[in-house]
Amino acid sequence: MNIAFESNVLRNANALKTNVVMPDSTPHPLSKERIEEIKKREQAATPKPWWSGHLHNGEHPCNCPYILDEGYMGGIAEVYVDNGKCVGEGGNDAPPLAEAQANQLFIAHARQDIPDLLAELDHRQEQTRQVLQGLLNTEAHPNDDFGMIKAWFDDAIRAAAQQLGLTLD
Ligand SMILES: [Zn+2]
Repeated sequence: MNIAFESNVLRNANALKTNVVMPDSTPHPLSKERIEEIKKREQAATPKPWWSGHLHNGEHPCNCPYILDEGYMGGIAEVYVDNGKCVGEGGNDAPPLAEAQANQLFIAHARQDIPDLLAELDHRQEQTRQVLQGLLNTEAHPNDDFGMIKAWFDDAIRAAAQQLGLTLD
């Protein structure tokens, strides 16, 4: 390997690692611990599906404010709607109708949305792990130029996996 080529390769390898392992300044709303907490809450709650009552459907004559499931006659939850009065005159200080309608849909759909989001998160983590593992497993002969570059690539791949909290073989 000639010296000019080698220094080019080294520069690129360093750039590679810098680009792959960026300083991680973005906030992480979902630590591993928090994901586990969310999974536990999801698994302990009344099984899906949940349905929203009719309040969210402005066209429907019934305005039931409930979140329902197939097991409990009384339902899972109830959303509250502003009763139009001041608090001092018996007002309930509840959300206005449009917001209460949105709340009803949000709560009912969360029963499916949250497990779906958790499953998608797992799926993407595993896909990322497999891609990085595939790159790592790509064979290079240790004595040729690619073999030398490959070692630097592997460094970057392992660093990226570590940053993503992924375990490679
Ligand atoms: Zn109804």
